[in-house]
Amino acid sequence: MSNEIRVRFAPSPTGNLHVGSLRTALYNYLYAKKVGGKFILRIEDTDQTRYVDGAVENLFTTLKAMGLEYDEGPEKGGEYGPYYQSKRTDIYNKYVQELLDKGKAYRCFCTPEDLDIMREERKTKGLDTRYDGRCRNLTEHKINEHLENNDKFVIRLKIPQEGEITFYDVVREKVTFPWNMVDDQVLVKSDGLPTYHLANVVDDHLMEISHVIRGEEWLSSVPKHLYLYEAFGWKPPKMCHLPLLLNSDKSKLSKRQGDVAVEDFLNKGYLPETLLNFVALLGWHAPNNEEFYTLSELEKAFSLKRINKSGSVFDVEKLNWMNGQYLRNTDLKVIGEYARKYFEKAGYHIPNEKHYLELVDIARSRIHKLDEVTEFAKPFFSELEFTDDDKEILKTESSQILFKFWIDNIIDSPELNEELINELLKRSAQELEIKGKNLYPPLRLALYGSAHGPELPTIMDILEKEKVVERFKNALK
Ligand code: GLU
Repeated sequence: MSNEIRVRFAPSPTGNLHVGSLRTALYNYLYAKKVGGKFILRIEDTDQTRYVDGAVENLFTTLKAMGLEYDEGPEKGGEYGPYYQSKRTDIYNKYVQELLDKGKAYRCFCTPEDLDIMREERKTKGLDTRYDGRCRNLTEHKINEHLENNDKFVIRLKIPQEGEITFYDVVREKVTFPWNMVDDQVLVKSDGLPTYHLANVVDDHLMEISHVIRGEEWLSSVPKHLYLYEAFGWKPPKMCHLPLLLNSDKSKLSKRQGDVAVEDFLNKGYLPETLLNFVALLGWHAPNNEEFYTLSELEKAFSLKRINKSGSVFDVEKLNWMNGQYLRNTDLKVIGEYARKYFEKAGYHIPNEKHYLELVDIARSRIHKLDEVTEFAKPFFSELEFTDDDKEILKTESSQILFKFWIDNIIDSPELNEELINELLKRSAQELEIKGKNLYPPLRLALYGSAHGPELPTIMDILEKEKVVERFKNALK
């Protein structure tokens, strides 16, 4: 084995990429970058029953959107391929034969019905529902009889029945499991395909993975995996299990509580930059507790040593706050590009680029997510609707005088620019003696449909002369 640091992200394509998986991918990526190692992508698609169409494509596009480029993997190739487990069946067959030959694994001919009965019996005896090992010691004769009958079988790992196993995990440190908590894991199913456990260990070894960095839900699989490494006579990689992601009520983060797919967050208008930053801090903290990081800053700051042991709450409030910060502090043109699809979806035709960016700029200071961006643009694109209270304000004598004055002064001027607007505001105050709350709120209401909102010159600039006149006319009785 080389001394190179090689880490892998090994998702199963069972749906759109989960935020927890994004964190696993990110930490693997960051660790590889930090130490100058390799980041490998491997698709763990041995379980065809859980395969979801489009999941692999979603994985590729999401990783790309996040900027997490891998060094070896499905689309890129590499010396250790293929990187799809479904294309590696022959490899697993060879290794499982080795385990059978060494007596570390055995064929189990129990039918699903046999297993149901066994589990029920164990339950009534107050035992756990692990496999009771009845096929562990079948005679050669019995095995051959089954094989001649073409009886279906699975291949199970022959886990020790007594004692315990202790191992070292980078995050959890010393971990001990009694063997009697560990099942005789199925390694090859009756259809001849390997299970995750066999394929995962064989591949981590053959791909020379130095560190397994993955979610804590896999911690209880480590004993089986280490037993497999030992059975093969292989040196295991270092283990590093990331803390669970929790809902605010401290339950495990799950789909039931709302969206958990990265794609859903992106569609709602969380920026990829925010998501990466936010997810990086779910289970890791910087020495100075700094909160804002770009990907390249994270590449320098990250370290496995500062991964937390306890679960991390996925705090949507904090995510919203952070996204708001990113919306306001990122270059306006970049935000404009991200926002464009929301305008298209709303059917708002963007008049010109300058006005478009003005609009986005108005909106971004008031929203948390980009899917809210068109709400602030709506008054520019659709008919204004007035409440009874609004109508009261528009109807007052001073408002009516004001609107008339503005129409008269705008209608014949060649263009409605900021200079003219400021001049008319001044003259409204001086000549009409209309000031303060009798001046700005009615004008804004007539043009934008709300007494509060963007600056008047901005509103008029975006609406342009013709529409400004039209809206003032509408506001006249
Ligand atoms: N295929 C497993 C998953 O979907 C990978 C676990 C591991 O990294 O070993 O999470």
